[in-house]
Amino acid sequence: MRAAPIRCGLAISARQPAAPAFRGEGGLWKEFDPIKVASIDYFLADPSAYWRVSRERGRVALAARPNPGHIALAELEASGHIEAVVTQNTDGLHRDAGTKRVIELHGSGRTVECLDCGRLEARSDVQNRLDVEMPPRCTSCGGERLKPTVVLFGEAMPSEAVREAFELARRADVMLVVGSSLAVYPAADIPLTAVRAGARMIVVNAEPTPFDRLAEVVIHGRSGEVLPEIVSLLSV
Ligand SMILES: [Zn+2]
Repeated sequence: MRAAPIRCGLAISARQPAAPAFRGEGGLWKEFDPIKVASIDYFLADPSAYWRVSRERGRVALAARPNPGHIALAELEASGHIEAVVTQNTDGLHRDAGTKRVIELHGSGRTVECLDCGRLEARSDVQNRLDVEMPPRCTSCGGERLKPTVVLFGEAMPSEAVREAFELARRADVMLVVGSSLAVYPAADIPLTAVRAGARMIVVNAEPTPFDRLAEVVIHGRSGEVLPEIVSLLSV
């Protein structure tokens, strides 16, 4: 890697889409089509289908902790090497790891919004009452349309987050791409925008990605191992 000073580094992270994991062990998932359960039309028709799945899976998701890759990105931000992390993940782990500027293109799974009165509530609080309340009700208006603040299938990405991500991409001089599931547009356009504007791209992923041919550096490896190594190389 060249030692030129970085004016604006940007990292974009994504992991494999959640849907295949839905089909893994746990017969529950044979019962529900994940695409349906996580689509806005289906959700509005029957929020309890979403929340019944969440009752089983949500606790595990909420218990997840940042891995060394999340922590390394937070360190790269703290040391001024990257300005922000743009992510498709909704698990909140970049913030937990200490990254200050996180742009969540698909929203956050940590909060729940009442579609009737707009009240926001911590996901963990809603999660805690799923055993006794199905579907969960708004603690303010009693409504039954509590929706996690994530982008469901059929919903638009939050426009402010998209605008901010593209603005950063246009002035980035380094674009660090972590993870391979950036196949969803417009997220995939963010690194392309950075490259078109002159940024150098670094790809870190275990498998080849569609971005490899545009990258100045491609590192095939696990982000949880490669990113901490980058941090330690930069700090010597
Ligand atoms: Zn409400």
